[in-house]
Amino acid sequence: MSNTHINKAQQEAINRLKQKRDKVLNIDEVLSNLKAGNRTTLSQAITLIESNNAQQQATGQQILNNCMPLTGNSIRIGITGVPGVGKSTFIESFGQTLIALGKKVAVLAIDPSSQKTGGSILGDKTRMEKLSSNPNAFIRPSASADSLGGVAQKTRESILLCEAAGYDVILVETVGVGQSETEVHSMVDFFLLLMLAGAGDELQGIKRGIMEMADLIAITKADNDNEHKAKLAIREYKNALHLFPPAASGWYPTVLSCSAINNKGIQEIWEVIVKHETHFTLKGLKEKNRKQQAKYWMKTTIQQMLHNYFKDSEEVKKAYQQKEQLVINQLLNPFTAAQELLEIFLKSK
Ligand code: GDP
Repeated sequence: MSNTHINKAQQEAINRLKQKRDKVLNIDEVLSNLKAGNRTTLSQAITLIESNNAQQQATGQQILNNCMPLTGNSIRIGITGVPGVGKSTFIESFGQTLIALGKKVAVLAIDPSSQKTGGSILGDKTRMEKLSSNPNAFIRPSASADSLGGVAQKTRESILLCEAAGYDVILVETVGVGQSETEVHSMVDFFLLLMLAGAGDELQGIKRGIMEMADLIAITKADNDNEHKAKLAIREYKNALHLFPPAASGWYPTVLSCSAINNKGIQEIWEVIVKHETHFTLKGLKEKNRKQQAKYWMKTTIQQMLHNYFKDSEEVKKAYQQKEQLVINQLLNPFTAAQELLEIFLKSK
């Protein structure tokens, strides 16, 4: 009798756990909460996408797949610039301007430094305090993964989730220090480059290729003593942009200045973005661009996945270091070593 009793209690406990689990995994509920713009649900969905746990990841993908019909209705804007240029101050002001215009704003970040350290250039300080407390804003720090490709992949998926949750402007921020701009460029409709005035002519370590990707350059901190320098910088960067061949889209990038702390020039930047949006939409270029980006995402995901399968294979792990040593000691050439490792991988499957 007591046994049955215990079993019954156990059964009830199991049922409760199951209910709890099913609650978490109830995709319909997640979707309807997402559609309603519930920020906690959005956060949870992104956490699933970012998870390294295979089951959670699969649930994340299931949510994402169900969200697909709800995605696409946003302007995706990439924002980059060197540390200290004023990215977070700009986003704080820009985001609030957009919200005042009736928009819902999501801010995502791609931080290459989050790969190795787990800490990050973007995430270490308290950022965008006012914006983050606004109910029409959603701010998510950079995902961390063991490769930039991995971080970017998660951000791409997060963009889609934010769109499903009704965010109509998605800002993807990155530090202008390396490869991440190219990744951001491959997932946005508009690319905004923030630059400092009078910080030297080496274009502040911003490579030519990054300037070439910009749809708009904004000179930051155009206030107080800096206003004159900002004017000069506008001229300088306009001249620099003239040297690039015109884009096939027919869009001519321009240069503006702004002061995020004084909220000046911010609305003008939005007006350029709207103009760009109209230009690209009317010419069918926005859709074309996004289709190309979707194809690119698929291709890079395959590469990423194949690489992960390869490096996670036990057989490969066993042989890798030995091959690496042979390569380092010039006893085996790198190409043959790679080929041999691939063969080990393929045989193990
Ligand atoms: P981030 O590293 O690119 O995100 O740059 P931050 O937004 O953290 O800004 C770096 C520094 O520049 C901070 O001390 C800001 O207060 C300052 N700053 C940012 N925007 C402006 C601006 O519009 N005017 C002035 N004068 N300072 C600014």
